[in-house]
Amino acid sequence: MAGHLAVEQLSLTYSAPGQADTHAFGPVSFSVAPGEFVSIVGPSGCGKSSLLECVSGLIQPTNGEVKLDGQIVSDHVPPEVGMVFQQDASFPWLTVSDNIAFGLRYGRDTISAERIRLRVEEALVQVGLTEFAHHYPSQLSGGMRQRVSMARTLVMRPQLLLLDEPFAALDPQTRLLMGEELLQLWRQSGASVLLITHSLEEAVMLSDRVLVMSARPGLLRHELVTGWPRDRHTEITTHPDFSVHINALWAVLRDEAIAAMRMQA
Ligand code: ADP
Ligand code: MG
Repeated sequence: MAGHLAVEQLSLTYSAPGQADTHAFGPVSFSVAPGEFVSIVGPSGCGKSSLLECVSGLIQPTNGEVKLDGQIVSDHVPPEVGMVFQQDASFPWLTVSDNIAFGLRYGRDTISAERIRLRVEEALVQVGLTEFAHHYPSQLSGGMRQRVSMARTLVMRPQLLLLDEPFAALDPQTRLLMGEELLQLWRQSGASVLLITHSLEEAVMLSDRVLVMSARPGLLRHELVTGWPRDRHTEITTHPDFSVHINALWAVLRDEAIAAMRMQA
């Protein structure tokens, strides 16, 4: 099975002429098994987004290595990787279906118009937007726009999904529903997921494993295995272990959040 991510001794320091260097994170090492759902939580500014950008190949790490199915990820995002960010990334001038088709039309593979149409239709069903295929993003709610972003990524059939706080801008109910949808899409696709979130509830609800990062420069402080079955739903929040897991994560994160707050003060 594909989608195996190995991150080895990865670190990043931002440097710009005339400015002090910023050691964003690392060195960190971890892996994501094929089909596994892993979340990373950590205080704001600890280097989570920077880490995900290095993992994706969008930016070059200062040290260390990222391997996807044994291949080193270097200066570009591999076609097997799909990303969804916190900000809505849809093109406002394209309809929902043209947004979803974009990567297939202008990607490196030549795909027939008919196959693109079928794949877009399938993605629309997956995210429940069939009725809105011809709407423009400005005519949709925030949650729906985020589903467009998700569909744009899923239509490329990624083996590894990298998600950077994709639901952070949504209200709590929509967030919960999107979590439910994400679990379903994860199960159907068989893809591995690496999710960045600042919500402990979201991390525990969705993941097989949660990694906790320290205040900047972010290091991995703790690993929690939830033990949830693959066929799980948001009702898992009522499981007796749910609050036990949240408390265990908070016990580690609390000190890091305080350290991060002091740094910003
Ligand atoms: P998080 O996602 O955990 O909030 P980030 O990865 O966005 O953290 O940022 C980690 C640190 O790196 C912060 O101190 C931030 O100011 C700094 N940083 C982020 N992007 C850049 C950049 N392009 N150039 C310089 N510093 C950056
Ligand atoms: Mg971030």
